[in-house]
Amino acid sequence: MSTSTIETPTAEASGTLPTIPHWVVGERVTPSGDDVRFGAVFNPATGAQTSQVGFASAEFLHEAARKAKAAQPVWRETGLAKRSAVMFRLREIISSRAEELARIITAEHGKTVADALGEVARGLENVEFCTGLMHHLKGEYSEQVASGVDVHQVRQPLGVVACITPFNFPAMVPLWMVTTAIAAGNAVILKPSERDPSAAVWLAEAFREAGLPDGIFNVVHGDKETVDAILDDPVIRAVSFVGSTPIAKYIYTRAAENGKRVQALGGAKNHMIVMPDADLDAAADAAVSAAYGSAGERCMAVSVVVAVGDVADQLIPKVTERIGGLVIGDGTDPASEMGPLITREARERVAGFVEGAPAEGAKVVVDGRDHAFEGDGFFIGASLVDDVKPGMRVYDEEIFGPVLSVVRVAGYDEAVELINANRYANGTAVFTRDGKTARQFEFDIEVGMVGVNVPIPVPVGSFSFGGWKDSLFGDTHMYGPEAFNFYTRRKVVTTRWPEPSESQISLGFPTH
Ligand code: NAD
Repeated sequence: MSTSTIETPTAEASGTLPTIPHWVVGERVTPSGDDVRFGAVFNPATGAQTSQVGFASAEFLHEAARKAKAAQPVWRETGLAKRSAVMFRLREIISSRAEELARIITAEHGKTVADALGEVARGLENVEFCTGLMHHLKGEYSEQVASGVDVHQVRQPLGVVACITPFNFPAMVPLWMVTTAIAAGNAVILKPSERDPSAAVWLAEAFREAGLPDGIFNVVHGDKETVDAILDDPVIRAVSFVGSTPIAKYIYTRAAENGKRVQALGGAKNHMIVMPDADLDAAADAAVSAAYGSAGERCMAVSVVVAVGDVADQLIPKVTERIGGLVIGDGTDPASEMGPLITREARERVAGFVEGAPAEGAKVVVDGRDHAFEGDGFFIGASLVDDVKPGMRVYDEEIFGPVLSVVRVAGYDEAVELINANRYANGTAVFTRDGKTARQFEFDIEVGMVGVNVPIPVPVGSFSFGGWKDSLFGDTHMYGPEAFNFYTRRKVVTTRWPEPSESQISLGFPTH
């Protein structure tokens, strides 16, 4: 298979830096004009700006939405078997070029190539689920609901939908949304994160190579101005969002006010309970993997270990020892296990949480700021903070970096109370060898995704993904079966074929 049609964007528009293009109706569109605003895209491992991305004006966005609307009827009329064939071809393109995509992710996000490959694999699950779109779009039929009357329900696409995605999974989260939206017959405008926008363009080109008609998958780059245009555009019927909680709430409110369907996933503070009967070596391995993988920039990262009884005294030395063995470096180095943070500001913000922890009464066991790095990359070491309590900044806020807090509690009930009192409710896990405790935890806990001896319980592609409380605004989860509900409207048709002799006038409300 040719690899020449999909390249890392290199078009030059202004200055000497490459400009990452929009992708509208099957073409790269390089922003031009004196009034275009640009964002800087960095290689976080070196700290150097590597490209720029032009932000779409409201006019540009509205024009792209109109073009998507004009293209959508052709796709809606395309037979389901042909749509499914596009998904099968897409699967082959992405899986055969996974490393190419992973390296694009690493170059702008900083995560290790191995981690980026994992992201691509999890995104592919959604493509695979959508190859079965013929099944997922099946309707329902009830025969003889009244004498000679049948009822059937079909699923129809919404038209044009928008997807707004965060920096931390520049391929996987777009694939969560875009695959199902397109499989269901919609046209899409994807507004990826302006920090690592190239993967989105790569995906759009891959869809085109898979046979998707032009205008069905469009990528429009931008910041708040572009997002606001999406939220106000009357052509766009639904908005899927993933990002931080304040923005998720804003998106949910403004899009809903404009009569759109919205699902807006927000931030997280994921707790992992370690019971006294747990295998503590396995729990330490899991805590370190889940807290520091991708430098903690995962919405399902574990950021709090809830140590029950005297578990902390045994667990902390094990976690500390493992932190000492972590290899932190450029994500393109196969030896690296953890890369840099996304920006210099993110690094300073994370350092601030560790710096402020002792004044609030917490104990910094491992200080990631002490880890020395060469060069100007946005690196920080892994931190471990003990004696953390609600009310401390390090506990209350989402850090989104490699900082693991330990909260000590007396027993199971206190652990559950702590988690259920938290405003975030994305993921959680219990580590125990007792099935009854695990079952009770599953029953008691007010969190959307739960792991039993699994620290990052991201549902596989045949289930749907979503947190509770401030981690999700809206009522449908993402990808999987719920996404087919989100991206379709159900239409119910009641049918009767009476004989002419059965015709009569009846002004009463129809009954059975
Ligand atoms: P972010 O909220 O800063 O940005 C997300 C998107 O919103 C981007 O496309 C950005 O351009 C846009 N945006 C930013 N500010 C805006 C504004 N004022 N008005 C309108 N649009 C705006 O999030 P991020 O830093 O890119 O990603 C990290 C956050 O995403 C974390 O909070 C993380 O927990 C969350 N996240 C959640 C999930 C989940 O499934 N719940 C998954 C991944 C990431």
